[in-house]
Amino acid sequence: MRDFREKVVLVTGGASGLGAGLAAALLERGASVVIADINVEGAQALASRWVAERGDRAWAVALDVTSSEQVDGVVDEVVRRHGRIDLLINNAGIAVGGEFHDVPPRAVRRVLDINLLGAAQVMQAVYRVMVKQGGGHIVNIASMYGLIPGAMAAAYAAAKHGVVGLTESVRAEARQLGVTFTLVCPGFIATNLFAAGEYSPGLDAERVVSRIPFRIVSVDDAVAAILNGVTRGKSIVVFPWYARLFWWLHRLHPGLLVRLSAAELARQRARGPAESR
Ligand code: NAD
Repeated sequence: MRDFREKVVLVTGGASGLGAGLAAALLERGASVVIADINVEGAQALASRWVAERGDRAWAVALDVTSSEQVDGVVDEVVRRHGRIDLLINNAGIAVGGEFHDVPPRAVRRVLDINLLGAAQVMQAVYRVMVKQGGGHIVNIASMYGLIPGAMAAAYAAAKHGVVGLTESVRAEARQLGVTFTLVCPGFIATNLFAAGEYSPGLDAERVVSRIPFRIVSVDDAVAAILNGVTRGKSIVVFPWYARLFWWLHRLHPGLLVRLSAAELARQRARGPAESR
């Protein structure tokens, strides 16, 4: 997809962070954008602002991606109002972190429910529309933790590995049906993801963010990398450099990142329970 003018785009999780950034950039490039989010007030506030300020073609709708009824209802409504869906930004997600033995089982189920099953549900409902209309493009927002191990974020990594497997598998089926995919696997981006996340007892967003040993990418840079990948027909977009490096290392030496993560975790545990949690 080289040109977004007059394209109909559905963005899940579009009320905040990466989704909001992608929605704004796509509107700027002439698309009609539907912002679907569980935070419907946030989604509506954005859509109203864009319509009032710039006359943009945007509207908001409430969507919990874990509800198949809501997913089907939203997809039907978009098709009813616009006649088609050209582009899906399958982006809604949450963070869950901590050592796996400490993370509440409810949080493990929740992250799999939203980040994997929710993403699969949205993708399938939109994919069916695209197969029927004979074309479309799906951008699945995974993570670098969909390609490499994610110590301290095992359930999150499991969900994102699932999104990678789903995308790569359906891509093969879709080849002759006119539907194409871009799989996005970013490192750390400056959004609300960590603050809104759920953690094991004693761990919090501030501590998680303070331990990130890399530059955190801005939303603007992430949006530019993703839309550049989509317009260039890239099947996978991995950024920034350290995400590409880790991915390469993991394929070259399976086990190396596990050893490095184990060493880092041992260092944190040695600092004492308050620090290591
Ligand atoms: P964010 O918290 O700013 O935005 C996530 C959005 O998803 C929010 O608007 C939230 O309301 C919505 N959402 C959460 N649960 C939902 C549900 N059940 N149904 C519908 N909407 C729901 O975070 P973000 O960083 O912009 O996250 C966007 C995507 O990017 C996520 O899939 C995340 O896993 C992925 N990602 C983020 C980072 C990062 O470092 N921020 C890195 C790699 C991948």
